Amino acid sequence: MKIVVTGGAGFVGSHLVDRLLNEGHEVIVLDNLVTGSKTNLSHLSNTSGFELIEQDVSKGIPNLGNVDVFYHLASPASPIDFEPLAIEILQVGSLGTMNGLNFAREKKAHFILASTSETYGDPLVHPQNEEYLGNVNQIGVRGVYDEAKRFSEAVTMAYRRKHGVKTSIVRIFNTYGPRMRANDGRVIPNFISQALRGNPLTVYGDGQQTRSLCFVSDLVDGLHRFMRFEPKLPINLGNDHEMTILSLAEETIRLTGSKSSTTFQPLPEGDPKLRCPVLDRAREFLKWEPKVSLQDGLQETINYFKKIL
Ligand code: NAD
Ligand code: UDP
Repeated sequence: MKIVVTGGAGFVGSHLVDRLLNEGHEVIVLDNLVTGSKTNLSHLSNTSGFELIEQDVSKGIPNLGNVDVFYHLASPASPIDFEPLAIEILQVGSLGTMNGLNFAREKKAHFILASTSETYGDPLVHPQNEEYLGNVNQIGVRGVYDEAKRFSEAVTMAYRRKHGVKTSIVRIFNTYGPRMRANDGRVIPNFISQALRGNPLTVYGDGQQTRSLCFVSDLVDGLHRFMRFEPKLPINLGNDHEMTILSLAEETIRLTGSKSSTTFQPLPEGDPKLRCPVLDRAREFLKWEPKVSLQDGLQETINYFKKIL
């Protein structure tokens, strides 16, 4: 198949591209490199069937001929980018998504949207199933990301209903692994690089907020399953092993063998207190299950950061 991956030079996107090329598909990445990097794809420079086009998808999608599948992953995703890249995030969630949908409609391609657990905001229902409508503060600093993705979902459903475009919505929960930027700002790259450098691990708030962390190979396996299946409704993908951020800091220190301590810093505005996916739909419809334990996933990520730091 011929497959477009927007955001394919980013962390998740580059792993998805590897998987698709391994299976013999033709892959075109559209990426403006705002948070991604050519380095994530440099090992593919001589791979036939692969092309990277530097393109801001909020401005348009180039003419690429016939395409079978359109994965829309382009969007900054780290909370540290929510203020400096606020407008770009809103643009790529709205204009970028509509450009992708128009393209998919014209090519009769399957449009697969990378949405997020952030559409649930600071959830009042726990764990989060796909029927929960969320608790989002649209005027807060996280609102730009949450509402961009909520708009993406709304317009995706509109194109499905009005224009009969084949669409899927994937609500991705916290995912980590090799190729995250050392200065990404998200919790795993922060904790691992702090531990490896012997600096204190910056725990925000009292560290009692929870997350459920999915290793990237599991996520990519789930994303891949959408190519064979076109669910009408959004599906959560992530890991349902929930833990506190403080215990994640302790586990990172243990696995790195670091002598680092932890230091407490203010909780960012709107930081969700609890997050864990209900994975019943993914298990039932995609026959998908996260398989990589936190210990194995962290170890592989630590090995990667040892090489790049
Ligand atoms: P990332 O920042 O590593 O990747 C995003 C990629 O999109 C980057 O390569 C960036 O340069 C590109 N991009 C951004 N705006 C663009 C634009 N206007 N035009 C073209 N390219 C653009 O982040 P990631 O963690 O790999 O996230 C990938 C997708 O998955 C995002 O849509 C994100 O919202 C979603 N997601 C990720 C997670 C996670 O935990 N990693 C969780 C929920 C949702
Ligand atoms: N966090 C932390 N220290 C850090 C980075 C993040 O304690 O150095 C916390 C953050 O407050 C949040 C959780 O870790 O509760 C996950 O943050 P991340 O930015 O990875 O993603 P989020 O789930 O908030 O989008």
